[in-house]
Amino acid sequence: MADTASGGAATAGRVLDLLRTQGTLSRVELAERTGLTPATITHTVRRLIEGGLVHEIGRGHQRGRGQPRRLLELDPAAWYAVGIQVDRTTATIVVLDFAGTRVADAGLRGSGGDGPEATIAALADHVDDLLRRNGIDRDRVLGAGLVTHGPQDRERGVLLTVQPDPAWLEFPLTATLTARLGLPVLLENDATAAAFGEQWAGAVPTDTFGLVYMGSGIGGGVIVDGESYRGRASNAVEIGHIALGDTPCFCGNRGCAQAEAGPRTVVEQALADPGLAARLGIGGDPDDTLADFERLARAWRTGDRDAAALLERSARWIGRAAVTLVNLFDLDTVVLAGPAFATAGPLYRRHVAAELERHALVRTLSRPEVRLSANAATAAATGGALHVLRAWAGRANGQAG
Ligand SMILES: [Zn+2]
Repeated sequence: MADTASGGAATAGRVLDLLRTQGTLSRVELAERTGLTPATITHTVRRLIEGGLVHEIGRGHQRGRGQPRRLLELDPAAWYAVGIQVDRTTATIVVLDFAGTRVADAGLRGSGGDGPEATIAALADHVDDLLRRNGIDRDRVLGAGLVTHGPQDRERGVLLTVQPDPAWLEFPLTATLTARLGLPVLLENDATAAAFGEQWAGAVPTDTFGLVYMGSGIGGGVIVDGESYRGRASNAVEIGHIALGDTPCFCGNRGCAQAEAGPRTVVEQALADPGLAARLGIGGDPDDTLADFERLARAWRTGDRDAAALLERSARWIGRAAVTLVNLFDLDTVVLAGPAFATAGPLYRRHVAAELERHALVRTLSRPEVRLSANAATAAATGGALHVLRAWAGRANGQAG
């Protein structure tokens, strides 16, 4: 009965999601929050307990009369998932347990000038190493979420772009990583993964919000009524290519936010001031763009006014892109995430908020809120791993039922 199985999978997925975000809940609370009948919840929870995914942890406080409520929680060691974020200048690996808690992570260099084959091989070696050092049995790992820029074909697991160089176009990324790791691999857009990560972490108090992602480049994502909008090639909300100024962009347009304000542009502006570049140790190698950008961010934090001026200029451009994002989707919340915001985040948050307050259409209703991800550098990798946990949990439980 396919309908029953998929319905059961969806129900199990919702129960697991709630327990992952809330920690512990009783069966009664699960029924209240899902709107499902107590009988359905009882049946679903029994199967999850039999499958070793959920366990009971004593009793909650009694409200009124009747039986005390037994609380449920996910068994964190039931399964694990890996999230891998990579682009030219940055890479991060995280391992989450079944409850969605990060149990291991590693920050690495990006792909640089290496081709996709060598990059995937190196990432697989790092994943192996991370699992081994943390004593995580490979048989307990559900899979890996590979997170990078778009445009991409998620079904085939390939990029549909010549960025960062032509060898990446149509290279079988997920198939190669699957063969290396012996694990299923899902492909996801970095900004969308970061938005999912923020949502599931409970970091955003609304189910409709926009996200500005800044790694090697600038991207965006939206969650609308709890669902992402991916577009045709998993590259929706490409706010890095909203045309705002006049600087030529690699995409062929002029004045794109990425060309006016992206990390590479900020670093090149710093290089144009030899005294500043020498003082901060900015080398300018394109593969080290984020490391150079981070040097500017740290200089800003210690009061360097030249570094501050460059970052503030970039932040105002991104604020203007955020105005368009907010106007297009009628948003009241924008989240900033991505490795470029790891140190410079507070400066960007302030300037983006100021631009929205001055120029967003919705400002007359309420002031749009700008939030900085608590884990800006790892948000995308975390979202990739959470995607694996969610995609698998519902499916496996549906098959079991
Ligand atoms: Zn462009």
